[in-house]
Amino acid sequence: MKISEKQLEAVDRQIKRILKSGNYYSGVYKKAGISGVSSPEDFEKIPFTDKADLRNAYPLGIQAVPDEEVVRIHSSSGTTGKPVIIPYTAKDVEDWALMFARCFEIAGVTAKDRIQITPGYGLWTAGIGFQAGCEKLGAMAIPMGPGNTEKQLQMMIDLESTVICATSSYALLLAEEINKRGLKDKIKLKKGVIGSERWSDAKRNYIAKELGIELYDIYGLTEIYGPGIGINCPDQQGMHIFDDYLYTEIINPDTGEVLPDGEKGEIVITTLVKEGAPLIRFRTHDLSRMIPGDCSCGRHYPRLDTILGRSDDMFKVHGVNIFPSQVEEVLSLVDGVSSEYKIDIAHDDNKNRDIIMITAEAEGRVDFVKTGESIKKIFKSKMNVTPNVTIVSLNTLPRSEKKTQRVFDHRED
Ligand code: ZN
Repeated sequence: MKISEKQLEAVDRQIKRILKSGNYYSGVYKKAGISGVSSPEDFEKIPFTDKADLRNAYPLGIQAVPDEEVVRIHSSSGTTGKPVIIPYTAKDVEDWALMFARCFEIAGVTAKDRIQITPGYGLWTAGIGFQAGCEKLGAMAIPMGPGNTEKQLQMMIDLESTVICATSSYALLLAEEINKRGLKDKIKLKKGVIGSERWSDAKRNYIAKELGIELYDIYGLTEIYGPGIGINCPDQQGMHIFDDYLYTEIINPDTGEVLPDGEKGEIVITTLVKEGAPLIRFRTHDLSRMIPGDCSCGRHYPRLDTILGRSDDMFKVHGVNIFPSQVEEVLSLVDGVSSEYKIDIAHDDNKNRDIIMITAEAEGRVDFVKTGESIKKIFKSKMNVTPNVTIVSLNTLPRSEKKTQRVFDHRED
């Protein structure tokens, strides 16, 4: 979707404010001769930015307001390198809560609901974002944070939680526990609001069925407020993204070319009104596409399709680009195999070739050797690469409360 006149004006204001602040990006823009934008063409000339810039500006180099206006910071951990620090003004915190409350409303959550929040609290944006949105909506927050499954289940039953907020991995773990303990009749959950990462249909269906709930994908990232900048509606045709706060583009991750609606690529987000740490054309490394046209629900917010994975989770073996989503697809075709997996990639120095090792979980009722062979065969036919496959028992692989890392590349170790 082309940038609107109103969004352009907002970006122009952001650039002028950044230049005046003297922050990290003021240096970048001065050097590039950027003093504002008045057309879509001007906008497309603004250089992209990503996490590497935020690390260069560590800790508070991207702050665009005086210290007295900053009320909070958040940090994204990142698996490698320095963390990223994002300062928020009171208005940023308020805007985020308003967007989050809007997400809950779109999912049909009301002030009468009891929302059990399992994502972590602290430097991470997750727990506190769900909490603020819940309170803004007027619902009852049950701020559990992650872990302690015993207590989670006890509170879920005793307080009759109606909404569960979790990562897909943790929702899966809870669903498995509820199934194992035969607690399904005792829980009152109706909806799950799940932090959006790439997750398979098999996992989604299992959670929806075991818990008997409707599932909603909520989108967001620490650099851009946090979770709660978009969610799918009951019509389930992609996630509505709030274009009064954000402008979203899809680009070719290799060339940076902006792609038309409908084409798959990397999500790039521009914050239109963020004060503490405005970001213009931030590369998220999340892969998806904009869904063309309007949603049948009648809302006009543009829509992002389900996240397909991360551009940096894509890996290359024997010259073939492989997405984790393709591995999930293979696993979903084999009987008795769960949706959790781990991929290790290494280099065999003796044979001078890359090897890919898949660890997958299978139910006890199936033959592990045959199951491994099936995965190997399907993988080879679809990707033209033969992996080594190890089958382990169900629940052996870690279910984390945060985004689970599944691909481990040992080739540079
Ligand atoms: Zn809709």
